[in-house]
Amino acid sequence: MLKHTARPLAVLLSVAAVGATLTAQRAPVGNAIQQFVKVNAEVVAITHVRVIDGTGAPARDDQTVVIRDGNIVSVGRAASVSAPEGATVVDGTGKTLLPGLVMMHEHLYYPTGPGVYGQLGESFVRLYLAGGVTTMRTAGNVNGFMDFVLKRRIDAGEMPGPSIDATAPYLNGPNTFLQMNALKDAADARRQVDYWADMGATSFKAYMQITRAELGAAIEQAHARGLKLTGHLCSVTYAEAAALGIDNLEHGFMAATDFVANKQVDACPGQATGQQTIAALDPDGAPFKQLVKTLINRHVALTSTLTVFETFTPGRPMPPGLDVLLPELSQQFVTVYARTSANRSSIYTTLFPKGRGLELAFARAGGTLLAGTDPTGSGGVIPGYSDQRQIELLVEAGFTPVEAIKICTLNGATYLGRESRIGSIAAGKQADLMLVTGNPAATIADIRRVDTVFRQGVGFDPAKLIDSVRGKVGLW
Ligand SMILES: [Zn+2]
Repeated sequence: MLKHTARPLAVLLSVAAVGATLTAQRAPVGNAIQQFVKVNAEVVAITHVRVIDGTGAPARDDQTVVIRDGNIVSVGRAASVSAPEGATVVDGTGKTLLPGLVMMHEHLYYPTGPGVYGQLGESFVRLYLAGGVTTMRTAGNVNGFMDFVLKRRIDAGEMPGPSIDATAPYLNGPNTFLQMNALKDAADARRQVDYWADMGATSFKAYMQITRAELGAAIEQAHARGLKLTGHLCSVTYAEAAALGIDNLEHGFMAATDFVANKQVDACPGQATGQQTIAALDPDGAPFKQLVKTLINRHVALTSTLTVFETFTPGRPMPPGLDVLLPELSQQFVTVYARTSANRSSIYTTLFPKGRGLELAFARAGGTLLAGTDPTGSGGVIPGYSDQRQIELLVEAGFTPVEAIKICTLNGATYLGRESRIGSIAAGKQADLMLVTGNPAATIADIRRVDTVFRQGVGFDPAKLIDSVRGKVGLW
């Protein structure tokens, strides 16, 4: 979550591993989701399709992919793999098949009013799925139980949506959010982890005012239960969190306070103060290189959320998908957009390209980069659309299209410990797939031209999912 205030300069800011056997079945399709389904057959063959498999390998032309009971059973040249007798055939000519996106910083809430985050789970899960997201982690929740209930209902086929790694309510110290708890001490952090893990949380997120003692206790407790913990930090530096054993850090380096001079321990100097040091950071200098080394040595993944920072940056294009919002909410964002555009002294003019470059440097040095979109800030990050935009922004940062796609598929799956089942296209994996028109390996914007999204072998119609919420996102 990133908080957007009126003054742009003050912008603040385990899943059980499944074995290699074919355990998945075709996803259940309840009555309520039938209207969104366009392909639902025991055997499906997608023929003459270009495949970008999610491993970072080059695209392969003219392939046939056969799906049986929700699993991919064969992938190969169309000339050598034929559609089985009785299969439902999807002609993939002129189209590209990618793994379903595995996105690591999503939310089921949105900034609807001053200091208020509306719970938009029902519309958001449709938008995420329509955008090609078949698995996502909610990186913190401000609703309590909704993420867990949605996860169960989607898995049961009662609602359309991605598979959800449901994160507990934020673990934070004293703060100004109306919808966030404040931990009392390290023992309280342990109790919260236990409680929410019992309630169904499969991951945890620490936030900006947590202390080192609370963070350390929460990490220990989460790990004891086989679960992972990420953080959008400020009071604790990235290096301190790495030493405490954190698994993941959010927002690239944008939330790092490691370079703030005379930083007090356990105190957040303000997100803006940290960001000034990042904007001024030398990517070739020893301090940054040392931090990268520390994160890599400690196996700490970093999550890029360029989409939310783009909405704070002057001169950027209007973000996609605003037309799904309630008119009042899209108007609210358009007003902020105009104010952002007019701000000639915004730190984001320097910070956005700098932060993007630091993420590229981290990945090039061997660090694990994940991606998400963070639909918070000032309201310009619209689920599904934002996930496609995040891939475009990674390409703008200097990744090749297939590298950007790997970050948003196999890297996320590997972090979740589910890479034997999801995140790439191969025989034996679950049929979580995104079929798009055109060729994103050549033109990354083709990632927006989604034709069908397969979740465990069931093909959903993105246009129907989007039409079902158009103009109403903000109500539910
Ligand atoms: Zn967030």
